[in-house]
Amino acid sequence: MYAKVIVDVPAKQTNRAFDYFIPEKMREWVLVGSRVGVPFGPRKLQGFVVGLQDHVDYDPAKVKPIAEVMDLYPPLTPDLVELARWISHTYLCHEITALQAMIPGALKAKYERHVKVADKMAGERNVEKQDIGQHIMSLPVQDEIIQYVREKGSVEIETLLQKFATDSGSVKQLILEGTLVEVQLIKDRMATKKVLTVIPLEEPPQLLEWAEQLPGRSAKQKEVLQYLAGHPYPIKLSELLNELSISASTVKGLAEKGWLDIQEIEVFRDPYAERYFRRTEPLPLMPEQQQVFSRISQAVLDVRHQVFLLQGVTGSGKTEVYLQSIQTCLDQGREAIVLVPEISLTPQMVERFKGRFGNLVAVLHSRLSHGERYDEWRKIMLKQVSVVIGARSAIFAPFTRIGLIIIDEEHESSYKQEESPKYHARDVAVARAGQHHAVVVLGSATPSLESMYGTMRENPIRTPEPVSMAAVIGGNSLTEAVRTDIVNAAPASKSGQIGAIQQPGARFELLTMQNRVEGRPLPRVHIIDMREELREGNRSMFSRSLYKAIEERLHKKEQIVLLLNRRGYSTFVMCRTCGYVAQCPHCDISLTFHQSSHAIRCHYCGYAEREVTVCPSCTSEHIRHFGTGTQRVEEELSKLFPGIRVIRMDVDTTTEKGSHEKWLTLFGNRQADVLLGTQMVAKGLDFPHVTLVGALAADTVLNLPDFRAAERTFQLLTQVAGRAGRHELPGEVFVQTYAPEHYSIISASKHDYNSFKDREMTLRKFHEYPPFHRLILITLSHEQIPLLMRTAESLAARLKELAKSLAPLPIEILGPVASPIARIKDRYRFQCMIKYRGEASISGLVQQAVASFEDVERQHKLTISIDVDPQVLM
Ligand code: ADP
Ligand code: ZN
Ligand code: ZN
Repeated sequence: MYAKVIVDVPAKQTNRAFDYFIPEKMREWVLVGSRVGVPFGPRKLQGFVVGLQDHVDYDPAKVKPIAEVMDLYPPLTPDLVELARWISHTYLCHEITALQAMIPGALKAKYERHVKVADKMAGERNVEKQDIGQHIMSLPVQDEIIQYVREKGSVEIETLLQKFATDSGSVKQLILEGTLVEVQLIKDRMATKKVLTVIPLEEPPQLLEWAEQLPGRSAKQKEVLQYLAGHPYPIKLSELLNELSISASTVKGLAEKGWLDIQEIEVFRDPYAERYFRRTEPLPLMPEQQQVFSRISQAVLDVRHQVFLLQGVTGSGKTEVYLQSIQTCLDQGREAIVLVPEISLTPQMVERFKGRFGNLVAVLHSRLSHGERYDEWRKIMLKQVSVVIGARSAIFAPFTRIGLIIIDEEHESSYKQEESPKYHARDVAVARAGQHHAVVVLGSATPSLESMYGTMRENPIRTPEPVSMAAVIGGNSLTEAVRTDIVNAAPASKSGQIGAIQQPGARFELLTMQNRVEGRPLPRVHIIDMREELREGNRSMFSRSLYKAIEERLHKKEQIVLLLNRRGYSTFVMCRTCGYVAQCPHCDISLTFHQSSHAIRCHYCGYAEREVTVCPSCTSEHIRHFGTGTQRVEEELSKLFPGIRVIRMDVDTTTEKGSHEKWLTLFGNRQADVLLGTQMVAKGLDFPHVTLVGALAADTVLNLPDFRAAERTFQLLTQVAGRAGRHELPGEVFVQTYAPEHYSIISASKHDYNSFKDREMTLRKFHEYPPFHRLILITLSHEQIPLLMRTAESLAARLKELAKSLAPLPIEILGPVASPIARIKDRYRFQCMIKYRGEASISGLVQQAVASFEDVERQHKLTISIDVDPQVLM
């Protein structure tokens, strides 16, 4: 009878559930996970139902009723509602922010201001007008407006103003006098797509009989009936017109006779509709694959929550293991989620899954349009698919019987969302799998140290956060039903209760695959000391040996991948005379040069100015862009190797929808010799004719002020080296660097994950960095430094004071200090870092400390943002 609702306002005061009464007529429809419209103060807001109950502990007369139910089916499952709660506790964000992150953008509420004719005004206006006298002049246009609104029921104010553009005064008058009243409607951002569809109304014999009855001049209509008799199914109108080269009027004529029907029918926008996926059969597994597969599939069959870390060298056949494990899961009647990093969600990747599971696969990534994304998501909702492959947020796919979650390239930092909710998909996956008794497979050639730590014995099991959802979830808990189902189906599982969220930190099991499929060798890696090249007088961006290797491949018609390991692709602008560097006037960051638009631009706020040719500081003309952008590499390649065909992939060439796919297809068809790009070319690509890989500047990441710099360098080099020699042709890799003695580069060149990991673990432990210690980054920002500093200092003091209560657990509060990027969009930034040991549970403490600064936040528009387990420390 009552619903607990979290409303669509991300603020402290509304970060809790409010009670609403469920009117009789809605009882069937209001479930945990439903979206509802509710009165909230003077407004109407959208909210999510997070619990149901049969009474309230106070005067029930005070409980307002729910105004409307937004969907036929709740867009969130009860386990997702529970997970949102876990996310809000773990990552310290508002619960509504977590809930919103789980639904497709198309369903984000849009509040529309409409007007309708006031009830009491029906027909009374004229009378009233005479009473008041001359104040209201009755203009014919006003009657017209009223008539228009009355016919429509309600009209969006914008639309009305457009329609009566020259009479906006009259519209305003009508609203002021109360003839028209404002109502707020909650709409989705997206409508379903509908297509005109032709539906035969009778069986084929009848259709043919009708065809006979038509006079000779109606040959076209005859043809339509005959066609439908041969294909007695609904068909898209456009398709039918195409098929028979007829006009719409021909079909309409038949509809008027009542012989067929034309209806608007909802369709799914399928981004892969035009593509054909060749079916693949499971491959006989290699011994290492077999071993790994049996561990994973056994856990799936046992309906046992277990996290596996699968460390498999590039080309060891991890994907085949994923595919066969998914098959096990599907055979059991359960569902699977596969996460891949956004940039490796290439057509090749999609093809491997669609090839095996066909229409059972939905694909979710950010390059889809809002509508396409929404439709893929609805296929999941409606249970038309049982596998979803997607980027980070696909972890929230509204499946109800999850058996397996796979995270490929689990070390990728893009699994961490950088804006609120700042969740890490890997940890969310473990939590969600816990709810479903599902298996998680974290796969990578270069596992993150965090995940590796998860397999180590000294990893302390974290004390669970005090979150219990049992009380909130009402009677219709789907998860409960699923549990009963699965447990009945697989009596082997006697373990704990479903729905309980397991904390990340439970020990992972390590599985390894050391060999490439069919014993193919890993490519040979040469480290090139660029300092040596310089000493020898080579000022080019290509070392002599890489130059030779490229020449050789061109000659043999083999392909080349070149990686320019730079964050960003363009370069900063500096005056050689006075050292002036072009900076954003709003952010403390250098502007970068974009060749295509001849502009210099800020990556943080979008500020742009025209390319400068004269130094604004000393008027010298020796001002130019520095660093090696992909464009300059491309230019130099063409100069050195005339006629060379280069595909350049960077942010500049891949903004257009589908361009990413287009370039890769071109390269796959061997229409280019070189694939040149940023990080994008390092991930997951598998081209049989690539025999040479060059990393042009391997150490650019190494110099970033980030404790993960060595790990990122090792990962990137290993990944890009893995692109070479994956098939019959053996591969070779050249790594150009100014730091050839660095352990991350040496280990990567030897394909030696373990030596890298051991060295790095030792350093991290010594410096008390993750994974041994955990971090929470608190960033404060404001337009004025004094207030900002004062607040940051008192926040740090408050944190220190609260931390004492947790003694003897080691908690260190560092800072406040200016953030590495000290100003963004005219707001200065300060940060505090909390360093603590994993077994402590300190989110409550941080929340409490930050809560005491709410007033400052509100009054002075100061923002405090919290990042738990930050991946980027800027
Ligand atoms: P990874 O993801 O570990 O880098 P892939 O899954 O891409 O490796 O596999 C590398 C290549 O080996 C792919 O072309 C794949 O089709 C092939 N492959 C995988 N497993 C087998 C197998 N059991 N037998 C033959 N070829 C295989
Ligand atoms: Zn200058
Ligand atoms: Zn800027």
